[in-house]
Amino acid sequence: MSRFLSKNYESLVPYTPGEQVNVKVIKLNTNESPFPPSPKVKAVLSEEVIDKLNLYSDPELKELRNAIAEQFGVTSDMVFCGNGSDDVLAFAIMGFCGRGGKLCCPEISYGFYPVYADIFGVELEQIPLKDDFSIDVNDYIGKNKNIVIANPNAPTGLALSFEDVEKIVSSNPDNIVIMDEAYMAFCGESCMELVKKYGNLLVTRTFSKSHSLAGLRVGFGIGSKEIIDDLNKLKYSFNPYNLNTLSIKAAAAAIADNEYYDDKIAKIVETREKTTVQLKELGFNCTDSKSNFIFASSDKIPASVLAAKLREKGILIRYFNEPKIDNYLRITVGSAEDMQTLVDSIKEIIAEV
Ligand SMILES: *Cc1c(COP(=O)(O)O)cnc(C)c1O
Repeated sequence: MSRFLSKNYESLVPYTPGEQVNVKVIKLNTNESPFPPSPKVKAVLSEEVIDKLNLYSDPELKELRNAIAEQFGVTSDMVFCGNGSDDVLAFAIMGFCGRGGKLCCPEISYGFYPVYADIFGVELEQIPLKDDFSIDVNDYIGKNKNIVIANPNAPTGLALSFEDVEKIVSSNPDNIVIMDEAYMAFCGESCMELVKKYGNLLVTRTFSKSHSLAGLRVGFGIGSKEIIDDLNKLKYSFNPYNLNTLSIKAAAAAIADNEYYDDKIAKIVETREKTTVQLKELGFNCTDSKSNFIFASSDKIPASVLAAKLREKGILIRYFNEPKIDNYLRITVGSAEDMQTLVDSIKEIIAEV
């Protein structure tokens, strides 16, 4: 730390991203897609577009917001885009809860929520999950605080039903409810249609997981025009050109290519189910994940030991050294081939202990 850092930020505990590596490994630690992006993405990144990079990107993001609006059957003034959905979450938590506002979230959830709460001066309540890691919807009904929930939740993979989400949104009309649907494409029940019915709902999504574009950094939020206007007010006060021209073009091409992504997402879901069965046969306990990762633990070997041994074999998975989940592993669903290698490696490791 330098002598110059503001006292306000001395105690920040930053978010820890999963490791990125250059050597050849099987990388199942950051919930990326094993598939390349749609070929249509490559097609729009033409020399002509590159030659125009001397110009600023469109701060209104018209092309991308229109493409997203069309996909979800809303108007483009209900769409806000960010540099990753982290950017959208940051603007929302700053704008609706910052400088002394109140927010609650599940105790075990996306690690960025407490970090944003801290940096923006938000009073955060972290609500414990049930013993089976599910969210007790009653904890959020009539809560009278702003709410952020990842649905499906991370790292548990468990999803709330549409009815439960509607109960939460409708019973907190004077607060913002942010439903972080980063993993929704992998078969949960989206609450997206509720944005037309409730003015207090913001649904966030990302291109990073389902659309094989983690490196592009694009995410978006859909909500009432009033909520989106507020987010734009913050954006124009902080970073008006928050997306670059290449990202705008590439993401607009990706979101329209349902045919390509439906197929890839179906493959990931199929592999998830198959690998879950194999892990259960090996004695693992796995949650009923509706995401592109598996959350698993075994009585035969501590999670930290298994993670370390897999690493020696060139397979990276995510281990959280945190209370209540420190015997669990979060395993991204990779290609069918890589998942078979994972299962075979786990068999070998278990046989040795
Ligand atoms: C990955 C993730 C995000 C952020 O994704 P971006 O890459 O910033 O779009 C947000 N929420 C959850 C729950 C995630 O797992």
